[in-house]
Amino acid sequence: MTIRKLNETVIRRLRASLVITSIAQCVLELVQNSIDASATTIEIRVDVSTYYVQIIDNGTGMSPEDLKKVGQRYATSKCHTLDELQKVNTYGFRGEALASIAEEAVVEIISKHSGCYDTYSKTIKGGQLIQYGPTRYNNRRSSGTTIIVRDLFYRYPVRRRQQAQTPASFANEIDSVKRAVETIALIYPNIIFTLIDTSRDAKIVMTRKTNSSISTFRQLFGVSLSQHLESVSEEENDFVIKGFISTRGLPSRQHQYFFVNNRLIAYNDIHRTIDELFAQSSFPNRVNDTLDLISSMEISSDQRQRKSMGKCPVYLLQLTCAATEYDICLDPAKNIVEFQNWGKLLKL
Ligand code: ADP
Ligand code: MG
Repeated sequence: MTIRKLNETVIRRLRASLVITSIAQCVLELVQNSIDASATTIEIRVDVSTYYVQIIDNGTGMSPEDLKKVGQRYATSKCHTLDELQKVNTYGFRGEALASIAEEAVVEIISKHSGCYDTYSKTIKGGQLIQYGPTRYNNRRSSGTTIIVRDLFYRYPVRRRQQAQTPASFANEIDSVKRAVETIALIYPNIIFTLIDTSRDAKIVMTRKTNSSISTFRQLFGVSLSQHLESVSEEENDFVIKGFISTRGLPSRQHQYFFVNNRLIAYNDIHRTIDELFAQSSFPNRVNDTLDLISSMEISSDQRQRKSMGKCPVYLLQLTCAATEYDICLDPAKNIVEFQNWGKLLKL
């Protein structure tokens, strides 16, 4: 057996398949790019049966020079030094998403930079540049970017088979996309999000601009679910927590959102602690003692009623802290987090 270094093509392909694992993941990366580009309107069109994703934003756009570089691995405008990495406050910082999507699909990027007269476009298929130059395409905006992804995972028939082959699995996949968009819309109440399932020509997510996450939650999930939500805002130990939490429980954890510096975090000790405290009749007093986050809440509902309603509180909590407090790179999707000092956060 001899050891040989993998060639560039193999490396690119292996890495790409790790970074973008599903249609929902692809949508999320593109939406995050639009948010990083200060977009206030983001329209997403998806057909899961044909592996098609289109995203139209009114962000800053890319200059023709930047567009030329985009889609190459590790090409990013967001972070260039180790020092900047410590302070990164954008979703992106590795320059991997577009390169990975372009490796696995046909990608057309059309962009107009606010400081440029012309709109430019670029097409990449399977990592190969197909076209680049000025285009007549007009997105009717003074600046912005449109990205069209066709035939995602065309090289991965097994992944496709696993994800979306039957009407039931299509429904599952579009549901994941819907949930990804709803979740990010919740923490950007000032951005207008539209998600269209183009296979049915149906608008499945539509938010209007509001000034609070609770109002966006009400728009997305209706008045009855939003009835018992209380705003939360606390600062403790260099951690700032804000958002809302319900005084009544639900039978499922469907509406439990915990964000660390605007990234949704997978179920972990924080969620477990909040659930446990809620299940115990001591809630919210022990939360006050621990996370110290809901002192602004007045719980008037009685414990028995809460128990009969289910044990999972609805909440959306946004933790803001220094990037040095935690490591977000434990998985490529960046939704597993490890804190330097869990005790400091949970105060258990
Ligand atoms: P990252 O977000 O980590 O920088 P990406 O591959 O997602 O990496 O994007 C590469 C670069 O392309 C970004 O740094 C940004 O400069 C540019 N870009 C991507 N999407 C957009 C967009 N919607 N609007 C403006 N610029 C964009
Ligand atoms: Mg990105």
